[in-house]
Amino acid sequence: MGKQKKTRKYATMKRMLSLRDERLKEKDRLKSKKKEKKDPSALKEREVPQHPSCLFFQYNTQLGPPYHILVDTNFINFSIKAKLDLVQSMMDCLYAKCIPCITDCVMAEIEKLGQKYRVALRIAKDPRFDRLPCSHKGTYADDCLVQRVTQHKCGHS
Ligand SMILES: [Zn+2]
Repeated sequence: MGKQKKTRKYATMKRMLSLRDERLKEKDRLKSKKKEKKDPSALKEREVPQHPSCLFFQYNTQLGPPYHILVDTNFINFSIKAKLDLVQSMMDCLYAKCIPCITDCVMAEIEKLGQKYRVALRIAKDPRFDRLPCSHKGTYADDCLVQRVTQHKCGHS
């Protein structure tokens, strides 16, 4: 008995969905639910900045190898945990030459972590890394990195 009920429920659902089928004529088709509700507490989509098309390879010929990759403390720590050579692994991943970049503040952050993170510090000082000087106050790296990537969206520095 229970089985029969379930089947019928499924059939009803299927019919409902088919009312939005694109094969139906526009006037017969059920409008998508998005436009019906206007909830003032809902997130306003317009406030989210649009991703510029230049961030995508298709539209941005400037975004190409060698890739300059901003690394943070966690990036280095996770490469150690995973026992991966950071520079080699990023090249294996992107099939292209990669230049990891490390900012003054990320370097300071790792230095502050002390002895336990000496391996991370040694990696950060690898000569294959590009050093990016910081002009901001303090050593809070997250804001610095976000600011850098929003300023140089097109991959050319
Ligand atoms: Zn910085």
